[in-house]
Amino acid sequence: MKTTAKVWKLEKISKTTIALAGNPNSGKTTLFNAITGARQHVGNYPGITVERKEGSITIKNTRVKLIDLPGTYSLSAYSQEELVARNFLIDEKPDIVVDIVDATMLERHLYLAVQFFELGIPVVLAMNMMDDVKKQGLRIDKQKLSKLLNCPIVETIARTGQGKLELLEVAINEAKDKKKPWVPLKISYGTDIDLALDEMEKIILDHQFMTNRYPARWIALKYLENDSEIIRLGQQDSQVAEQLMVIIENVREHCLKTLNIPPEAIIADYRYGLINSILKQNIIIQEKPRHERIEFTTKLDRFLVNRYLGPVLMVAILYAMFQITFSLGEIPMGWLESFFAWISTSATKLIPEGLLQSLVVSGIIDGVGGVMGFVPLIAIMFLMISFLEDSGYMARVAYMLDRVLRIFGLHGYSAMPFIISGGIAGGCAVPGVMATRTLRSPKEKLATLLTAPFMPCGAKLPVFMLLVAAFFSEYKAQMMFSITLFAWVMALLVAKLVRSTIIRGKSTPFIMELPPYRLPTLRGIYIHTWERTWQYIKKAGTVILAVSILLWAAMTFPSLPEGQVNQFAAERQAISSSIQDNTKRELALLEISNHEGQTALRYSLAGRIGSSLEPLSQLAGFDWRTNIALVGGFAAKEVIVSTFGTAYSLGDVDPESADTLSSRIAVDPSWNKFTALSMIVFVLLYAPCVVTVVAMAKESSWRWAIFATVFNTTIGFGMAVAIYQIGTKLFI
Ligand code: GDP
Ligand code: MG
Repeated sequence: MKTTAKVWKLEKISKTTIALAGNPNSGKTTLFNAITGARQHVGNYPGITVERKEGSITIKNTRVKLIDLPGTYSLSAYSQEELVARNFLIDEKPDIVVDIVDATMLERHLYLAVQFFELGIPVVLAMNMMDDVKKQGLRIDKQKLSKLLNCPIVETIARTGQGKLELLEVAINEAKDKKKPWVPLKISYGTDIDLALDEMEKIILDHQFMTNRYPARWIALKYLENDSEIIRLGQQDSQVAEQLMVIIENVREHCLKTLNIPPEAIIADYRYGLINSILKQNIIIQEKPRHERIEFTTKLDRFLVNRYLGPVLMVAILYAMFQITFSLGEIPMGWLESFFAWISTSATKLIPEGLLQSLVVSGIIDGVGGVMGFVPLIAIMFLMISFLEDSGYMARVAYMLDRVLRIFGLHGYSAMPFIISGGIAGGCAVPGVMATRTLRSPKEKLATLLTAPFMPCGAKLPVFMLLVAAFFSEYKAQMMFSITLFAWVMALLVAKLVRSTIIRGKSTPFIMELPPYRLPTLRGIYIHTWERTWQYIKKAGTVILAVSILLWAAMTFPSLPEGQVNQFAAERQAISSSIQDNTKRELALLEISNHEGQTALRYSLAGRIGSSLEPLSQLAGFDWRTNIALVGGFAAKEVIVSTFGTAYSLGDVDPESADTLSSRIAVDPSWNKFTALSMIVFVLLYAPCVVTVVAMAKESSWRWAIFATVFNTTIGFGMAVAIYQIGTKLFI
């Protein structure tokens, strides 16, 4: 008996790989979470930043591996996501694709399904959002649609998990059946294209041209669609490629001449035509009058994306979002601040005075504390953004700004990275850079990545406040507003510059339907917020720790030679014994400590770097002390004010209480209005901080991250020099 049981088990456990595909916003993530729960693994596809999510679950003796493919509208090569999805299907050949379609927008969503059919991979359709279909008073004839598409269909409501088990069962069954080779669907695209396709297919088959990887007709189709990746890969067999190119050139010319549209547009038209001809056969039946959701969305959009009112409301909503973020964030930030202050004092007490204490307190705790202090702010901001995204409003923001951003070679989706990075003063470029993920075209993404760090992030603000208070105290609000405006202008202009030079290329069309407004679920928002916040903590925590230790070392070593230290000690001794009055003595002692601190700083590596940069930096009006602060600011912009304080002999200056430092600078003979302006502009534009650079490298490549560092610094310095030179020559 025992042995049979064992054998039975061995026989029955089988494995199935299911790829989850669908348009963005079809409910993929929701369904994936509903199926896998906590059993999921999140990583990236090798070499790129497209997220790869995997989960597994065992159902009735079948071990199911579920892969959440990136959301795509098609299987062309327009974006990384599309390429990743398609290469995954082709190279890893999952047993079955579950294509999730939004049943309320069947026409749009079936476009992707048709492309799966053309590829030949076995598909099960998950017809999602069935609750919305019902609410709109619609019924969908599932049987008929399934027959016409020749593909099993399961109705789901991902939000409640309804239908997920049936879906898995059907998928597993289909996967078992279809261990045979893929059967691509042959669609007719009209005589011209069909003839070309046949001819190309023959050539491809005769030469075994990439047929080990792709179906022959599909290769031909991609050539006609002008698919950059397939054309690139085809170059390896240049003889065949050339033959194909001749054919497609002919077809293209012919199509343009007769119909005035390129083949890829004709192909798309025919695909939609196929879908329409199916849907027209009474698939969607209006049973009851339309429910309010669509009515509601249409009504709301009349205001929210109105030509004139829309932008005003958008600014108001975004402004409110920042107000809420900052006023809510202040409270936990205060707690964190006191917490780190407490750790700092405890460490000072516990560890005897000396290098170790200085390392732990100034190097580690202050550095990491400075970054962790931003966590509540960032978490709340992400919470707001997740809310705006899930509710459907973010798509409208992108839609409204697209017209403006397009002029500068950017995209509607560039708006969010800019705003998060500080487009409304006070953001942070790290999450901003991470938010560029929503950009589908690599070129627009790069242009956004490079310019988003120009925005006045929260860490730059103390520097601006310090300088504005010192030199433009009557125009505080106006100055801060102008700085923000200037950042936007620079970001857009520089984006235009790079988009018409080093990253030149067509802009991608804004393809995205405006989804209906939905009340986001708590679970969805929680997952989105947590994922992003955790990423920030991880990145910021590790990099900042390393950098603040390095910076501390650079400002500490080499330490003053013993002779000089003794000299200061002797001075102190002399004062202690000669001045009787307590307060006066304290003051005199402080003066000496400051002097010693300043001398030590100048003697340190950082001081030497600052001094050696002086001949160049003088052009913009910066002396060695400013240089140290600016070099330190590369580690984290928060460091600028505190380093400034040290360099101006004020000991440890809290960025919040910059008042005294600002009055000190105001009367310093080496400073004037133009030095201040020059520094403001430089701080705004120069190299992004290290954490941002790392984030940039992760989103693009190290090459671009380093480029941004050099390029932005050059632009910043150029502007600073111009302001300082023109200002001082003309007005002083
Ligand atoms: P993805 O972009 O495909 O991953 O889509 P998401 O899973 O993020 O879902 C997009 C939005 O649709 C979210 O606000 C979900 O809560 C919502 N959603 C997902 N499935 C359903 C559903 O079956 N019914 C309804 N009414 N909303 C859903
Ligand atoms: Mg998703």
